[in-house]
Amino acid sequence: MPDDWQRALAVVAHPDDLEYGCAAAIAVWTDAGREVSYVLATRGEAGIDTLEPARCGPLRELEQRASAAVVGVSEVAFLDHADGVIEYGPALRRDIAAAIRRYRPELVITLNHRDTWGGTAWNTPDHVAVGRATLDAAGDAGNRWIFPELTDQGLEPWDGVRWVAVAGSSSPTHAVDATAGLERAVRSLLEHRTYIEALTDEDPQTYARTLLTGFAEETGKRFGNRPAVAFELFPR
Ligand SMILES: [Zn+2]
Repeated sequence: MPDDWQRALAVVAHPDDLEYGCAAAIAVWTDAGREVSYVLATRGEAGIDTLEPARCGPLRELEQRASAAVVGVSEVAFLDHADGVIEYGPALRRDIAAAIRRYRPELVITLNHRDTWGGTAWNTPDHVAVGRATLDAAGDAGNRWIFPELTDQGLEPWDGVRWVAVAGSSSPTHAVDATAGLERAVRSLLEHRTYIEALTDEDPQTYARTLLTGFAEETGKRFGNRPAVAFELFPR
């Protein structure tokens, strides 16, 4: 991965999207003094079958903030789109472009925007919408005339995004050695306790560790046999 940058912004659909793999890389970056901020399109309020959205949303927001803090991220913003039915379109692009103008990142991170995770494992419409809109908004943010209302709000164009890095891609091009961040990534995922307890009967510790270590080792096979987080990098 390129390392000549100072600020990154990660834009994803749901609480936990960054914790299923990507957070290990984020821990490595914040250790090196880089600033990373999170923007989430939703509060993940439709994510737990046994918990109604009005109670689920605030809880998952708290878990996401705790989870971000474990890997050195203190800025977490929510765009308040509706979980499960996020619509790709100008409204979503504008909200993400506004965030890019606010945080002025050189690197933007998002999650797999393609229909599948590779093979026949179908992706969710929220990930597809947010991933695509983020790739698009990296350009929108630099154009004064696409969303002129943002300039009126004091958000000047930011044409400084140099790369959009897509996590969870089935065609990764770059990777980060995740060794130093893996332990915190496990703790970061464990902060989504309500979600994990509803998801599996397994011991949460075992669940998180087995899953993240497995992902990192599998990814590492392509990248020098060290635990890794991989991205598909779109230079701009
Ligand atoms: Zn998700």
